[in-house]
Amino acid sequence: MAIDPRLPYDPDNVFAKILRGEIPCKKVYEDDFALAFHDISPKAPVHILVLPKGPYVSWDDFSAKAPDAEIAGFIRAVGTVAREQGLVDPGYRLLANIGQHGGQEVPHLHVHLFGGRQFYGMIS
Ligand code: IMP
Repeated sequence: MAIDPRLPYDPDNVFAKILRGEIPCKKVYEDDFALAFHDISPKAPVHILVLPKGPYVSWDDFSAKAPDAEIAGFIRAVGTVAREQGLVDPGYRLLANIGQHGGQEVPHLHVHLFGGRQFYGMIS
């Protein structure tokens, strides 16, 4: 069931628990603004999730409410993860599911980073 992005932030969502270290993750990167770890159900040879550390449900409230430093830090972190994973050449795919029509399941903003194979067209 996809989430309603208008809901207030749920501090007990699974990614909030991962950010607090209450449940484990296979971490690949962390800095002041972001945490990245392997998706528990990978859809590609490389499938990493990158999260801002702040309590943002979706791209909507992140882009509207986050301080510029958090937005810049998050975007830089996504690029850093891709570089560190060796994905820049031959390339990779970024995806963010937002709200119900976006198919978002976990109500903490995250970007999916896919790599390790050729992608064609759009993901349905
Ligand atoms: P969404 O549909 O964009 O919200 O994607 C949520 C993603 O989180 C899915 O790809 C899940 O496989 C992934 N996921 C859910 N729980 C965990 C977890 O505990 N660790 C790592 N990935 C998770």
